[in-house]
Amino acid sequence: MAEEIAKNIFFIPGRRKGGYPFCNSIFIQDRLSAIIDPASNRAELALHQDAKLAILSHFHNDHIRDLKLFPDAQIAIHEKEALALSDRNAVVELIFFPEEPQAEKDSWMARKAREMKGAWGWKVSRTFQDGDELNLGEIKLKVIHTPGHTIGHCCFWFPDQEILFSADIDLTGFGPWYGNACSSAEDFYCSLEKLRAYQPKLVVTGHELGLVQGEDFLSKLNRYQGLILVREQKILDSLASPKSLEEIVDLGVIYGEFLKQSPSLRPPERRMVIHHMRWLDKKGLVGFDAGKWISIKP
Ligand SMILES: [Zn+2]
Repeated sequence: MAEEIAKNIFFIPGRRKGGYPFCNSIFIQDRLSAIIDPASNRAELALHQDAKLAILSHFHNDHIRDLKLFPDAQIAIHEKEALALSDRNAVVELIFFPEEPQAEKDSWMARKAREMKGAWGWKVSRTFQDGDELNLGEIKLKVIHTPGHTIGHCCFWFPDQEILFSADIDLTGFGPWYGNACSSAEDFYCSLEKLRAYQPKLVVTGHELGLVQGEDFLSKLNRYQGLILVREQKILDSLASPKSLEEIVDLGVIYGEFLKQSPSLRPPERRMVIHHMRWLDKKGLVGFDAGKWISIKP
């Protein structure tokens, strides 16, 4: 059931609390009606097919899956991810490092296409970048480019209503997810810093929590951001003895016990560890010697 969270702005909760493969959506009723991240609840979204603009936080399936309900809507996404809506190869390049096994890439992409009940091939009408304003009539949104989860991930700020749509900066207890090749632990951390400039009355997250009251935002943001450093510290502590990348992945710093239970989690765990090693290397805290990562005391 959609809930009007401000005049003509409707929160559409995702099925299964907006857990994957669903997300939370927003519908905006205005001269140019718009839907943000249409992958919440097909039946509910179908009631809002007058949307003429689909605004996407990023290219992931669980934010675009029900685009097909809006065949006449223009599609808008950050310029760095526009190709990923139309071209399967662009999706592969954003998700996987080039050296990952082709068979793994193919099986993953086939699974995603099944989940989407179709392949890629969306035509993007508009691209945006950081600071752009989308004017829908009475209601306007500002684009906040928040890379890290993906390279073109964006949050949306409603300045007049002081509402923040935070997409996959979802403030969950799991913490930030940066498991694509185009992700970055460092950028994610910096994007969370960037959000401190806002004092929202209400935050709409892309998954699970859904609506977060403004007074709870900062404490949830602090905890969420801190988890990146907790993971980093676990990796550093493990380097009391040199370790290969695979040995660090084995620690399950991100997924914990779930990593052993589900082999499909290993590739994103590995990518997230790689992003940590890149950032630690940049900070001069680790080195790589004879095939092993070592800790360097500052
Ligand atoms: Zn995502």
